[in-house]
Amino acid sequence: MTTVVSHNPAEPSDLVVEAPAAGAFAAAEVVERTRTAQPGWLLGGAAARSAALTAIAGAIEAAADELSALAVREVGKPVTEARAEVARTAAIWRYYAQLPYDPVGEVHEPAAGPGLLLTRRRPHGVAGLITPWNFPYAIPSWKAAPALAAGNAVVLKPAPEATACALRLAELIQQPLPKGVFTVVTGGATEGRAVTSTADVVSFTGSTVTGGAVVRAATWRGIPVQAEMGGLNAAIVLPDADISAAAGQIAAAIAGYAGQKCTATSRVIAVGAALGPLREALSEALRALPVGDPGEPATVCGPLISSAARDRLLRSWESASVLAGGTVSEAPGWYAAPTLVEKVPVGHTLLREEVFGPVAALLPAQDLAHAVRITNSVPYGLVTSVHTADLDTALYGLDQLDTGMIRMNAPSTGVDFHLPFGGAKASSHGPREQGRAALEFYSTGRTYTLAPAKTT
Ligand code: NAD
Repeated sequence: MTTVVSHNPAEPSDLVVEAPAAGAFAAAEVVERTRTAQPGWLLGGAAARSAALTAIAGAIEAAADELSALAVREVGKPVTEARAEVARTAAIWRYYAQLPYDPVGEVHEPAAGPGLLLTRRRPHGVAGLITPWNFPYAIPSWKAAPALAAGNAVVLKPAPEATACALRLAELIQQPLPKGVFTVVTGGATEGRAVTSTADVVSFTGSTVTGGAVVRAATWRGIPVQAEMGGLNAAIVLPDADISAAAGQIAAAIAGYAGQKCTATSRVIAVGAALGPLREALSEALRALPVGDPGEPATVCGPLISSAARDRLLRSWESASVLAGGTVSEAPGWYAAPTLVEKVPVGHTLLREEVFGPVAALLPAQDLAHAVRITNSVPYGLVTSVHTADLDTALYGLDQLDTGMIRMNAPSTGVDFHLPFGGAKASSHGPREQGRAALEFYSTGRTYTLAPAKTT
């Protein structure tokens, strides 16, 4: 039997969990078993679903300290961010706890004769959720809560690196739910493939390569699928921006949680005269960011998730000119300094691939149109931040940028959970998640014609 193990990224000798991987057959069996629990969950009614989701929010709040400490230990999330993630996770459950009461359809007049035409949304059955390690509570929750609210049962296949966080979260979710409505399958790619080939709807978050495989497999089966994948996000800074404020926000977006967020900034585009002051201010801001023990409340940039991630990062700035950082620490702990580089050759890794570490390339642009062309020149299109005091510039950016989310005078990271989340091109596939958009994804439309038995 294979096992999943996770190690503390700040103290790699600390084994956080070793659990058996389910294996392909057992994972498929779990999906089948979960399917038998779904009709009862749906028929239990909106009030029962709402009450259960509210109870989950309360349980998460009550366990907040323990959950944040576990995220610090297992995925190296700086404790201040870990606490914010747990608070946000509880808020997500509370938000979706209201939605079972929402209208699920419309009533129309028949084109001819008496009767009623109705539309009604119904759940799919079992939602298979495949999640990454970097938001070990929020991402499983922003998928599971709307799936459950709509009346689906859920099978969660978390990332191996976040197994302990997922198992603890699952205990809290399972408590108020009828038995078997929410289950977890531990493991990696094998179990992820098994869930993709047996669930009735699949929601994936992770890398673009894996997401492509999940989308192809689910589409082949003809089931609904959404995939939220990587980013290569730009921050555009105009000369009229408050350069010091922009530098502070961008530094945090580059190196917060060691850059391990799909919404992290990895390209900084300085327009015209913004280049000189921004180079200075951003280099300074990155050097000043507290790096180190994720258990310290002041820490912004903790360790990378693995030695492989650190090695990939170290290779990423080869042949560019380093302005700040540019070093990784030797053991223990997979740490790297927040890094800014410039003079990046055309076609360089940093301009093509998501590195998923605390590094960004500083790129000059002649004007806003040029900055937009640079932003749109990559295969990804998740989020862009635009820093300017000019509303015309902001409106131009809104129209021209090929990214799913655009943030003015705000960091690329930290988007709200009650609005649709997603990107363009290789960053996302399928309908948006989060907000009310999620309820649409986790249900399907039916049209009913109700004609009277007697017409006289
Ligand atoms: P990953 O792609 O390695 O793994 C994601 C999940 O897929 C894991 O649970 C993994 O076990 C599973 N998996 C692996 N192979 C599979 C297969 N063939 N079939 C089905 N499942 C399979 O990603 P990761 O390293 O855990 O997470 C980091 C990535 O996630 C980054 O690329 C980041 O940008 C992305 N991410 C995106 C968003 C977003 O909303 N766009 C949010 C967070 C993270």
